[in-house]
Amino acid sequence: MSFVHLIGTGGTIASRAETGGSTVADSADQILGTIGLPTRVSVEDVLHINSFHLTFKDLLTIHRAVAAACKNPDVSGVVITHGTDTMEETAFFLSLLHDFDKPVILTGAQRAADQPNTDGPENLRHAVVAAGSPQMRGAGVIIGFEAQFHAARYTRKRHTLATTTFSGGTRVAQLYDNYLLRLATPNPYPVLDAPDASFGALDIPIIDASPNSNAKLFYAALENNADAIVLQGVGAGNAPPTFTDAVKAAVAAQVPVVLSTRVPTGPVAAIYGNGGAVTLLEAGALSAGELNTYQVRILLAILVSQQLPVETFRDTFAAQTS
Ligand code: ASP
Repeated sequence: MSFVHLIGTGGTIASRAETGGSTVADSADQILGTIGLPTRVSVEDVLHINSFHLTFKDLLTIHRAVAAACKNPDVSGVVITHGTDTMEETAFFLSLLHDFDKPVILTGAQRAADQPNTDGPENLRHAVVAAGSPQMRGAGVIIGFEAQFHAARYTRKRHTLATTTFSGGTRVAQLYDNYLLRLATPNPYPVLDAPDASFGALDIPIIDASPNSNAKLFYAALENNADAIVLQGVGAGNAPPTFTDAVKAAVAAQVPVVLSTRVPTGPVAAIYGNGGAVTLLEAGALSAGELNTYQVRILLAILVSQQLPVETFRDTFAAQTS
């Protein structure tokens, strides 16, 4: 008989108030104990932290647990309880490596487990019901909140406090009580090889361009042996002209630079010279396309860890961003 595998990592859904603020307290089993379910569930805790503590090593740990569960023929789908702050990074990381037909659904809460109106149990119940449904086959890695299920790619946390906070990616399904409506299948992208343990040691800073900003932090990152840099521009990927030489210096030192934008929707586009995206891309930066700064950083990290030849690196990157 098939069952859903639940992987606990912590987050607000597992948190309770302590002196000094809310911290992770509950195991996945304890969260599960608060809800009634029509589906059989196996439970495993792989981490016990808030998602603002996550490291790249932790992402690998979660991926390995997901892959092991998906290899079990009796598992119909996987649910991960996770903090909301960086859920979009973990979900995207898992989606880039996901090579199974089984759905993987990340969920959590905006209100802690000890708040009377906590949203965690209901989100978990919805996620388990969806992960157990044959309708979700081929749906990929998803963020499920408030009965809506969005593909990991492009989904972002949009509100610090509201319980409706995730949107952006393809809306794959919607649950109405126990009735699941499958709406779409996200566009397929090539599956990447999982990185090895060296992934955990990567240093990939994000440098922000804004009015009166300069490239000092960018050069400092190079001097401190950054493995790659994400330059977050304004508009369609533009920056003050001082960043152009910094990008050239990074590329000459074989440190990949990706140009992203702080604008929430729309792609990086080569429109402006004199420090704009035309200049920065000519200087050797790679375009993030429509991927946001935080998700493109995850893609960049995976590819850097694989130490690919320059051409293969560029082609593999382009296949995920165009
Ligand atoms: N606010 C966060 C959460 O929802 C904290 C975290 O990301 O762990 O869990």
